[in-house]
Amino acid sequence: MHSDDASTSCVGCGALVPATEGPTHPYIGASPGCWRIYGDVLGREYGEYGYPECHRLTVDAYAVQHPGVASRRSIQSVGVHLISLYYVLERGVTSDEATRRIGLAVRAGPPSIWLQPPTDPGRLTICDVANAADADAHARIVRAWAESVWEAWRDHHAIIRTWARDAAS
Ligand SMILES: [Zn+2]
Repeated sequence: MHSDDASTSCVGCGALVPATEGPTHPYIGASPGCWRIYGDVLGREYGEYGYPECHRLTVDAYAVQHPGVASRRSIQSVGVHLISLYYVLERGVTSDEATRRIGLAVRAGPPSIWLQPPTDPGRLTICDVANAADADAHARIVRAWAESVWEAWRDHHAIIRTWARDAAS
């Protein structure tokens, strides 16, 4: 019996994940097997890794790489996580500062335009993060993953920068 070996491509990131039944998120577009791996990674960040600085990027990269389908909540979610990726990766702000600026963006009126997700979701996924051997490798892979996701959305960088500026003004 090898039915537990069945795998499937995640509808969001395309990673090969266990073809399980299970909970998913109401608007983050992830397959159950991928959602479970994400939960395991978050558990490690909250636990043995002691809430690392890279946690902000983990949450942002995962949400952006699993945009789901256009709805008010998914549009806002993808929009603010893209704004956060912009601030951390392009402007070099801290996680706390990025979180504060997400708050500003939400109060200023969060993004209401659906950005067509890229057909190529980027070369790294949560599965690469899950395979990290220790905290240092984890932080390094999260950073590379977030950069690959940000780069995948390059066609929309100009409008994301505009959103970030509008929120900060
Ligand atoms: Zn996925």
